[in-house]
Amino acid sequence: MIIIMKRPEGKEEAAVIGAQVEAVADVLHQEGFKTDISRGVEKNVVGLLGEIDPERAETLVSHLRAMPGVVAVERISKPYKRVARKTKPQGTTIPVNGIAVGGNRLLVIAGPCAAESEEQLGSAIAEVQKLGAGAFRAGVFKPRSSPYSFQGMGEAGLILLDRLRKKHRIPIVTEVTEVSQIPLVGERADVFQVGMRNMQNYDLLRALSHVRKPVLLKRNHAASLDELLQSAEYIARGNEQIILCLRGIKPLQGSVTRNTPDIGDIPVLKAMTHLPVLWDPSHPTGDRRYVIPVALAGVAAGADGLLVEVHPDPPKALSDAEQQLDYEQFGQLMDAVRRVAAAVGRTV
Ligand code: PEP
Ligand code: MN
Repeated sequence: MIIIMKRPEGKEEAAVIGAQVEAVADVLHQEGFKTDISRGVEKNVVGLLGEIDPERAETLVSHLRAMPGVVAVERISKPYKRVARKTKPQGTTIPVNGIAVGGNRLLVIAGPCAAESEEQLGSAIAEVQKLGAGAFRAGVFKPRSSPYSFQGMGEAGLILLDRLRKKHRIPIVTEVTEVSQIPLVGERADVFQVGMRNMQNYDLLRALSHVRKPVLLKRNHAASLDELLQSAEYIARGNEQIILCLRGIKPLQGSVTRNTPDIGDIPVLKAMTHLPVLWDPSHPTGDRRYVIPVALAGVAAGADGLLVEVHPDPPKALSDAEQQLDYEQFGQLMDAVRRVAAAVGRTV
């Protein structure tokens, strides 16, 4: 349930409405609910967190509607409430490396698909940082379609990443594939990535609701946006630092691209949720020739940043060799992203 409160016009009214917002929150607290108050330019919204049984709701709604300053009381019937745009119309920003992700400035997370060696990571981290990346990505627990493919360096890769993040002072984004990895990753990385295969691993999502670091949640290739937001809601029950990421959806048979770029869903998702939305142009295309234009399209469509695969020697990469950019291409991408970002009123 959300309670929409009057927007103050002028300083005096702001104080009065501030007190009215507190009064509404007090009523809800007395009833045993937790609240989430968001004060926006357009309106103030008091969100009631938790379940409420229908009979009790009716009395409470009438009581709240009669309170001073209340414009409307809306029940949210959606299966996600905390992450719904309505709960926080002005949007959420998540701090990563001094960038308020979801704000005006875009966050570009770049790095190899997988950590492969100290040399590969050391080179990639220095180069992408120099070219303007705000965070470094590299998977150490790799969920691969074939059990015979490279499965990642595991903990040894995490130790390398930890050493490099201290040296270069850049946040590390890396994937967790099961609950048991959370403490290890939490100690050595800055952002937990949940890959598309684990978007519906509810045990993992529940466990990530207890961490105190941001979670980058990727859309499963066959999931609706509603399903993505329900997965985010699992995390949001305890941890509101969630960044969503679109990465292409299952393609039609015979399609040229690895996945179908779901760029059109960027503005749709942003209208549905207050959480920031990143765009991964690497996995939809599966081919480095198309990564730059598809990245730019995502920025133009309103993405709050990019997740891009970059490798020192892409053809030799142990995973996703076809889609990773080399440093020169990543430099070109950054230049072009700066121009498109400026055209849509954003910075990088
Ligand atoms: C990745 O970004 O490393 C990855 C495995 O992507 P996805 O989960 O989207 O397939
Ligand atoms: Mn990859």
